[in-house]
Amino acid sequence: MRYFSTNGASPHVSFRDAVINGQPDDGGLYFPASIPRFPDGSIDSMNRLSNAEIAFVAIRDLVGDEIPDDALRNICEETVDFPFPLVEITPDIATLELFHGPTLAFKDVGARFMSRCLGYLTRGENRETVIIVATSGDTGGAVAAGFHGVEGVKVVILYPKDKVSRIQEQQLTTHGGNVITLEVRGAFDDCQRVAKSLLRDKDIRERVRVTSANSINVARWLPQQFYYLFGIKQWKADAPPIVCVPSGNFGNLAAGVLAHVRGMPVRRFIAACNANDVVPRYLDDGRYEPRATIATISNAMDVGDPSNFVRIERMLGDRLSNVVSAASIDDDATISTIQEVYSQCNYTLDPHAAVAFAAMKENASGEKGFILGTAHPIKFDAVADALRIETPLPASVKELDGRPKHTIETSADHHEIKETVLSVI
Ligand SMILES: *Cc1c(COP(=O)(O)O)cnc(C)c1O
Repeated sequence: MRYFSTNGASPHVSFRDAVINGQPDDGGLYFPASIPRFPDGSIDSMNRLSNAEIAFVAIRDLVGDEIPDDALRNICEETVDFPFPLVEITPDIATLELFHGPTLAFKDVGARFMSRCLGYLTRGENRETVIIVATSGDTGGAVAAGFHGVEGVKVVILYPKDKVSRIQEQQLTTHGGNVITLEVRGAFDDCQRVAKSLLRDKDIRERVRVTSANSINVARWLPQQFYYLFGIKQWKADAPPIVCVPSGNFGNLAAGVLAHVRGMPVRRFIAACNANDVVPRYLDDGRYEPRATIATISNAMDVGDPSNFVRIERMLGDRLSNVVSAASIDDDATISTIQEVYSQCNYTLDPHAAVAFAAMKENASGEKGFILGTAHPIKFDAVADALRIETPLPASVKELDGRPKHTIETSADHHEIKETVLSVI
């Protein structure tokens, strides 16, 4: 498969180069030259396939022959080796729990797939690869876990100081070794802006090969189709579901839309946003106006200028408003949703899934569907505050307590960060 840039001013590249470059030089995003439909009958026969086999069938045509089938099968098996249960919350709304992986969030899927692909595609080279990532919380932990200990690869993670939860910070900073974290005095958008310019920086590129691992990388974006298919596989109602996606940078929704365009039956999508409502406003009045980020309790969705939305527009064009609707839910409504769902349905939502649940209730008018449960509620202090309960810590979190924190504090200044990065790679 060849990939072109959504800005149209960079050459078409192979899957390998799209993964390794991360982003085209013209500042656009890589996009497949043609969108292959899922192989005939594959959707109907999903019940008979393992999750790993579904993943392999879904990704194979988008990778092409650059990773041989055996190796790609292995990568898929390692990527989805944890459960993805569809759990009923109310008779109309279920949640697809995506948080049973190593860092308790859906980003484990993309990060694992990408780390294995990159390991395969750069095997045997003697040049070091440096991954540069900005995170609003969950990306960094998933990338750190995915790449920790991968030979020939270093990871540099920029995160906003005091804007990630305690568990998220532990998941970022306790690896050490090839995982280097920078605690930036600023917002996620500052981290993202600096990360983007570091990725293009000549002095850094002279020394090492650099690439991104944010959801703009096709090896992060594309495997997110997998769990939509696992959700459809478990969906028992006759009519296809509405699927409601808690959205920030819109990579996750873009993957769902891609799976739909390739033949996955979905009634429609709802993009659930917090107070960062660029996309809901756009669908409302046709004006796309990126804004400064607003801090909320669903912090992984605090994005004022979502990168992946262009991919969704590219796939849907004029059909956008038929396939996607959107809602913006504020923190008060998020908290009351967590409380109501806990007391009425005995289910604990994390703040991101709570935004989705509220958006679904507001938007679906009784049609059935599922939300994506993007993170485990234990990761967010707001849940314990809202419910005044102590949820027992999963073992993977408990073992981080007391481990030393490896991090470098810095201002959001591009030059200061660049010098720091040059000193550690
Ligand atoms: C990253 C993240 C999101 C947003 O996903 P995007 O692909 O950026 O839209 C939602 N929920 C959680 C828990 C996340 O970590």
